[in-house]
Order: sequence, then C-alpha cells, then structure tokens
Amino acid sequence: MDENRLIQIFTENQLAPAVRYFSQIGSTNDEAMRWAAADAPDGALVVADEQTAGRGRLNRSWVTRAGAALAFSVIYRPKDREAECLHLFSPLAALALHSALQKVWNLSAQIKWPNDVLLQRRKTAGILVEAAWMGSQLQGVVVGVGINVLRGSVPPDAEVMFPATSVEHALGRPPDRLELLCAVLREMNAWRAHLGAPAFLHAWRTNLAFVGEPVCIDQSGKILCGTLSGIDDQGNILLRLKDGQIAQFAAGDISLRPLQAA
Ligand code: ADP
Repeated sequence: MDENRLIQIFTENQLAPAVRYFSQIGSTNDEAMRWAAADAPDGALVVADEQTAGRGRLNRSWVTRAGAALAFSVIYRPKDREAECLHLFSPLAALALHSALQKVWNLSAQIKWPNDVLLQRRKTAGILVEAAWMGSQLQGVVVGVGINVLRGSVPPDAEVMFPATSVEHALGRPPDRLELLCAVLREMNAWRAHLGAPAFLHAWRTNLAFVGEPVCIDQSGKILCGTLSGIDDQGNILLRLKDGQIAQFAAGDISLRPLQAA
C-alpha cells in the first residue's frame, strides 16, 4: 500500500483524523493501545501491510500476510452512552464489514457470533476489541480488524481452527484493498451512530450465521450444544437446548462452532 496515497485519501474523505501506517508491525492493536494511552484523537487509525504477531481472542494468533490482507485498528474515545455498551464494538466492526461487502461488491457475508465475518460459511475476517483503562477510567476502545482480502492471505486449513477464505475467492476477482478499507471505515462511522439501537440489532440478527442450526458453545472447555435461536437485545447468544429451555451466553471467553462446517 502506498502510504502517502493512503493518508491523503483518509484525510480528504474525513475517514480518520490521524493515521499511522506501517509496512510491517507486530500487532496494530498493540500500537493502537499505546496510542490510546497517549494522544490519539477519536477515530485515529493504525494500518499495517503485514503483522508479525497479529492477535485474536484468547491469545490466539491472527495471520496477516504482506500485500494480501488488511490489518487495521481504530481507536475510539467512547461517549458516555457508548461506554455502557463496549461489548457492541465488536459487532459494530462486523456489521460495518458486512455492509461494505454488500454495498461495494454485492457480497452477502454472515456474522458468526460474536465477532467473525464469514463468506460462504468460511472465516474471512476476525475482530479483536480491547479497552484501554487508566485505573477505573476508560480511556479508549481499540477495534482491531483483520480481513483476508486476496487469496494469498488465507492460511491453510490445517493451521486454522475454523475453515478460512478470502474476499477474492468469494468475488472471483481481486478486490482493491484500499477501496475495501475506505468502505469499512465509512460503515464503521455510520453504524457507530446506531450502536445498540433497534436498527443495529436488526441488522446483526438478520445476518447472523447458523441460525436454526445445531451449534456448540465452548466456554473455557465446558461445551454446551443446542440449536442457535438468535441474539437478545443485549447481544447475548441464545441456544435452544434439547429439553426446550433457552440458554443465554454473553460474548466473554466463548467460542461458537457449528456442528456442520463449511
Ligand atoms: P475466534 O473468535 O474464532 O475464537 P479469533 O477471531 O480470535 O478466533 O481468531 C483467532 C483464530 O483465527 C486462530 O486461532 C486461528 O485458528 C484463526 N486464524 C488466524 N489467522 C487467520 C486468518 N488469516 N484467516 C482465518 N482464520 C485465521
């Protein structure tokens, strides 16, 4: 990616008030957390062409290959209302990517609760949200997004816990990474205004993967299986168990897996 072009486009289109670009970095979230602890303005952006220590949830690693993927982190300074729903920043990014793919390329992605974006039932993007605290004072929220854009970004099946794919594979031609990044940032700004609102929950529900299908929830090694029935107004996942009861789970340290993979 051409750094000057990138910064010029973001500034001209008011997509980010400040940008830090790296051709290679450990993790954009680490850089963003440092910047959040300092003077990053609301909406500041860290972008990298390659991550050498990209992170997923639960200390898992996220692979970002040079020249093929998108890896970026947005720093938000949450307003009071937003600070009450920090858990919704992860679906915010997922919804934004969903909308961007739909609007720019007419691709229908699905959101695997709570934080992955799927194309053709395969993982195309991962999201890692981290909060920056100073004592009990919330300083910022870092929303990290990794997207497999070109085919070369996809790790082999043996290296991932869930089958992966790329936007290029679903589209049938290589999309422009910068165009995708701009579209996602635009949609993140747009959805932020609706964080937790009925339209937000509706879009999340409508595009939720595996609804009506058998799935298993892994909560720190404790596995519970049932039929995915949806999400409630707080963003918890709802599972209909064998005995007809509905079990509810907050995102936290939970992983969801369909019984039937891609
Ligand atoms: P989950 O939310 O499914 O628990 P994360 O979104 O935190 O997982 O991502 C970490 C996991 O994603 C890793 O354990 C690995 O299996 C998988 N992974 C790593 N890099 C990629 C990639 N580029 N594309 C798809 N999956 C990946």
